[in-house]
Amino acid sequence: MFGRAIPIATEERNLNATAQLAAAVVPAAGRGERLGPGAPKALRELGGVPLLVHAVRALARSRAVGLVVVCAPPDGVAEVVGLLDSHGLEGDDVRVVAGGATRQESVRLGLAAIPADIRVVLVHDAARPLVPVEVVDAVAAAVRSGHPAVVPAVPLADTVKRVEPQLAGAPEPVLDTPDRSTLRAVQTPQGFDRAALHEVHLKALTEETSVTDDAGLIEHFGGRVVVVPGHEEAFKVTRPLDLVLAEAVLARRRATDGY
Ligand code: C5P
Repeated sequence: MFGRAIPIATEERNLNATAQLAAAVVPAAGRGERLGPGAPKALRELGGVPLLVHAVRALARSRAVGLVVVCAPPDGVAEVVGLLDSHGLEGDDVRVVAGGATRQESVRLGLAAIPADIRVVLVHDAARPLVPVEVVDAVAAAVRSGHPAVVPAVPLADTVKRVEPQLAGAPEPVLDTPDRSTLRAVQTPQGFDRAALHEVHLKALTEETSVTDDAGLIEHFGGRVVVVPGHEEAFKVTRPLDLVLAEAVLARRRATDGY
């Protein structure tokens, strides 16, 4: 719901509305080496546009989102500002801050850049460029309705087995097979009550944890996380094949939705 891209009705610009809006943090300070050598993952192009720009636009499309904070590589802040600028994503609605050495640190630094009156925070991977606006809206709405931590997720197509990891290539003994009907593949944006997310990030400063997402931090410190339906097009672009799929989804949207 960015001013320049999508004008906001004047009556919505009152004080209450500002406090109701969510801010989104986009950690984009990693190198993303699994996609192979080349530019950092967030700057890889999809349909001629960097993944990061797609991700910021996807968040901005939501009327629930009033601010996007992008966490850039510490030595790449000016480059990211210039990049967003060149795609019309400049102004008060987008901020770029220096990220940290880990994803967790990047999110913490992003959180610190959000104005104090904003109570709903979304955290979204730059590597999920095609998340539909309905998912962003649903996550923000679930937080606003009283759930302090909300993740979008989809059922798994594959059966999953827990194994005893071995050296690369060696056969791995299977430990067990979790009931697939109880498993979900988690996506982003993950949504949080701002105070709850802030608290676990502070606690995590004094304790080493191995969690890989923000909802995991909430769980680690005993908080309750709920799942809402995600979307198959909110997949993460991690490997080269994911880029092929993302190009196909984008081409279909451009052909059918004037995307
Ligand atoms: O490398 P991985 O896929 O786990 O990274 C997840 C997200 O966290 C990516 O969007 C990456 O740019 C971001 N990240 C970050 N700061 C770091 C490391 C990763 O913002 N220091």
